[in-house]
Amino acid sequence: MAFSEKLITSLNDILRTRRKSVIIIHPQPDADALGASLAWKKFLERRGHEATIISPTEYTKNLNWLPGVDAVLVYENEAIKAKCHELLQNAELIFCLDFNNFSRLEQLGAIVQSAEAAKVLIDHHQQPEPFAQIMFSDTSYCATSEMLYDIIAALHCTDWIDEDLALCLYTGLVTDNGFFQFNNTTPRSMHIAASLLEKGVRPDYVSEKINNIFRENRLRFFGYCLHEKLKLVKDGKVAYMMLSSEEIKRFNLQSGDSEGLVNYPFKIEGVVVSAYFSEETDKIKVSFRSRGAVDVNQFARKHFEGGGHRNAAGGKSYLGLEKTEKKFLDALNDLPLYN
Ligand code: 5GP
Ligand code: MN
Repeated sequence: MAFSEKLITSLNDILRTRRKSVIIIHPQPDADALGASLAWKKFLERRGHEATIISPTEYTKNLNWLPGVDAVLVYENEAIKAKCHELLQNAELIFCLDFNNFSRLEQLGAIVQSAEAAKVLIDHHQQPEPFAQIMFSDTSYCATSEMLYDIIAALHCTDWIDEDLALCLYTGLVTDNGFFQFNNTTPRSMHIAASLLEKGVRPDYVSEKINNIFRENRLRFFGYCLHEKLKLVKDGKVAYMMLSSEEIKRFNLQSGDSEGLVNYPFKIEGVVVSAYFSEETDKIKVSFRSRGAVDVNQFARKHFEGGGHRNAAGGKSYLGLEKTEKKFLDALNDLPLYN
């Protein structure tokens, strides 16, 4: 079993006695955060719980086909803030999925932290803050969705996984391992994916829904970034793109539309780090990707108030584009670029 018996027993016990749950995910939730939370909500409801998902910010419309996603409460929506506060106050259990520190939640962090409910963390990122009474934290999983499958299996409940629940888990699993391309893909990921296909998931459907749903302006934006904005430094080992809010506005993008762009520079042989900087109203959001031993988790932690995984991390900067670029280039001198 992937998790200790003690951990599974403590989860089982707490699920038996507490039946009002809130599930929290990270801002700008990706398919793993959404897939895992939707699957866990279905699972909890099947067990007779009340369960509500709160996302700190809006989720991308690109994922509006995930079964049950309409029920996700978006905290940044002023009209439902009070309702979210009330749910958090009255919750008996708070599940924190696909993130592992409260600073990631921004404003919502303090509210979740001060809620009286018992907290359960289920996450696969590095260096978790030890804030939860029950911690499922394991970086060997490619996705939180992969972990949830194993948790459900350890609870002897795989029979409860119906096609919709399987679709949510499969989508989270394949998006976080790049459809089995990244080095976080393991025999276990493949076995779990196979079990989810046996529940009726169609891999071609998920691939199309994730990969081939661009609107024209989004593909043209990718083209613009790669043609006009891509810079290569450090003998072609580091690629980066910096986009101003004005440029982003010009392409009339929706949230989630830059998802995936940061992976394109790896098409160039020899690139081991790729970074994408996008200017938002109050900050610059940064996405980092790397290959092999190059550790962008540490890099993001040290220089950009962020974190994530060794080969996929994110962070932020409040310095403006020009100074952020200089900071990035300076910081690179500190980053060993072996592969
Ligand atoms: P993305 O570049 O796709 O936004 O994020 C890549 C990875 O880094 C994800 O696993 C995500 O959870 C993590 N990540 C992104 N932004 C942040 C951040 O600001 N703080 C931390 N700790 N992790 C982040
Ligand atoms: Mn994830």
